[in-house]
Amino acid sequence: MRDLPKESHFFNQERETMDWEKRKQELNRRFLKAFQYAYQHSKAYKEIFSSAGVELSDIQGLEDLEKLPILHMNDLVERQKKDAPFGGFNTFDPNKIRRIYINPGLIWQPGEREYHDTSWAEALCGAGFNAGDRIINTFNYHMWPIAFMLDESVNMIGATVIPTGVGNTLMQVKIMQMLKVNGFIGTPSFIMTLSQRAEAIGLDLKKDIYLETALVSAEMLPETLRSRIENKLGISVREMYGTAFLGCIGYECREMTSLHVPDNILVEVVDPHTGKQVGPGAAGEIVATNFNTAYPMIRMGTGDLSMLTQESCPCGRTGPMLKKILGRIDQASKVRGTFVHPWQADEVISRHPEVFRYQVVITREEHKDIMTFFIELKEEISRPEILCGRIERDIKDILTVKGVVQIIPRGTIPDLHKKIEDRRSWD
Ligand SMILES: [Zn+2]
Repeated sequence: MRDLPKESHFFNQERETMDWEKRKQELNRRFLKAFQYAYQHSKAYKEIFSSAGVELSDIQGLEDLEKLPILHMNDLVERQKKDAPFGGFNTFDPNKIRRIYINPGLIWQPGEREYHDTSWAEALCGAGFNAGDRIINTFNYHMWPIAFMLDESVNMIGATVIPTGVGNTLMQVKIMQMLKVNGFIGTPSFIMTLSQRAEAIGLDLKKDIYLETALVSAEMLPETLRSRIENKLGISVREMYGTAFLGCIGYECREMTSLHVPDNILVEVVDPHTGKQVGPGAAGEIVATNFNTAYPMIRMGTGDLSMLTQESCPCGRTGPMLKKILGRIDQASKVRGTFVHPWQADEVISRHPEVFRYQVVITREEHKDIMTFFIELKEEISRPEILCGRIERDIKDILTVKGVVQIIPRGTIPDLHKKIEDRRSWD
């Protein structure tokens, strides 16, 4: 456990505010070490790298990163099936571990005797948690690893965890009230459920519930939902993103500029079709490498879509930043070179309560993509062209690509419809 100064909002200020040149050298050193260790000690990596024609000496630093193949969860699953339980990715004796975690789809994950990863602890500090806080951990302690990882991370920052897991909302509300819990970790929908439960038993959310900060994950957090939770409970809501295998990949600090990438993870954004890195401001798949020597993840593709940004954050952190997660690679459509995701379309429409139902249709005319938002209105309005203009402005703002809005009669869009329908033909 670490003695953090009250309200520092850093887990390790020196590392988190390191200048860029030094950070690059550090990342280079850690990446090389992780790669070489994995090559020499993990059966799976030796096979994967060798069959990609990569020798140990071919990789001299970050500039060689793209020579390594990108792995996905299905590669891990396939290898685990053939070589149970850990698929040969482990560098340790599989009988000398503390836990075997189960991930959805029966994917095994080793839990070491001592927990080392500091990425979630960094996110906790960034969100505003401090030593001495009382944090209710509502992630599921049953089987899945994430609750345990966060539990260990709360310990790392010197705060106290209340390990409730999910479910039993009445008891959870009472626990929060009686123990004056001031921090929440869990999903955005679960904190919403808890606050509704608290209201239903007559509690005053701002007086009887002592929450100050919620750090949420595992679900999309549209801004409309964030502000609903913040206003309802009078708290601040911050978001973190990551996976059980990789650790935390990005988190929001108090300033909420973008997602800070933690100190101990290497993040790339790549074109999902070519596997090549794309520059800041271009959307692509998040691929991450962690520096966990026991169960290394080297160039693991997440299937999630985001972009690196060159913004700087007033909080003083100097590491790379990712924009919000835009969704899954496989659900996105590319319109004039830009990914458009159902979630973003929802965000646009959520700003316009007049809309009853909508569908986005992408077509192609004279070698140009056309994106049309077909909308049905709740009721007829006068001067609908003003509404259309406003929605078109929001489309441009949120999707960063032009779209047109067309009002159609109620009942035109079928009940079961794809939110974004791609009608382009490529012959
Ligand atoms: Zn910041």
